[in-house]
Amino acid sequence: MINFNQVYKRYPNQHEALSGLSFHLERGEMAFLTGHSGAGKSTLLKLIALIERSTHGQVIINNQNLGRMPRWKVPYYRRMIGLVFQDHNLLHDRTVFDNVALPLIISGENHREIGRRVRAALDKVGLLGKERNLPIALSGGEQQRVGIARAVVNRPPILLADEPTGNLDPELSQEIMQLFEQFNQVGVTVFIASHDHDLISRMPYRRIVLQNGRLAE
Ligand code: ADP
Ligand code: ADP
Repeated sequence: MINFNQVYKRYPNQHEALSGLSFHLERGEMAFLTGHSGAGKSTLLKLIALIERSTHGQVIINNQNLGRMPRWKVPYYRRMIGLVFQDHNLLHDRTVFDNVALPLIISGENHREIGRRVRAALDKVGLLGKERNLPIALSGGEQQRVGIARAVVNRPPILLADEPTGNLDPELSQEIMQLFEQFNQVGVTVFIASHDHDLISRMPYRRIVLQNGRLAE
């Protein structure tokens, strides 16, 4: 599902964030991406989400070679990817419902389908009944759940998370991880960047470890 073949990423300032990186994740796999700060974890996720493009090498996602993807196809491609961030990037002047509905509005879904899907997504993350709240009225863990609901509302086959528990205490972090596991259990490929070793070591998933933009042995 996710295939990196000798991938290099050099930023315009000439910094090489990824250097000859090769690995792959199976369809339906759940894995962690770890490594020191600056190792290249966010860069790797950005290449998958086509927020950045590789300088050399092939990134092949769901049999599509991203290097060959024309610009006009990118918005369609991105619907395949759910993204969860550490600071959840919610719009604070919009309700929970409106935040989660955003990807569906962008992809032009009809009103009724939006209502149905938003409620299904909020139900999955345990927030049904909070639709009318503003994010500010929710706890940190609940805000992260809204971010996850927004990421999955399009039912993407791939879910990427960049330090999703970075701001949460251990108990809430574990709950968030259980949510990711639930999506994985219905077939979603889940890839989570995290440096929370305590949390990760208690879970049975593969770890891709980066060190200075390369796979660590
Ligand atoms: P991590 O997520 O593991 O902390 P990043 O992928 O964010 O690592 O960063 C990897 C390296 O690339 C770091 O040295 C960082 O400073 C550098 N970097 C990240 N983004 C940019 C950018 N837009 N321009 C230049 N350098 C960048
Ligand atoms: P319903 O059974 O009401 O049609 P769906 O099957 O459409 O509900 O999905 C409910 C929720 O499942 C989605 O809104 C989403 O939160 C979650 N989901 C996300 N990704 C997937 C996926 N790839 N496969 C199945 N369910 C997913």
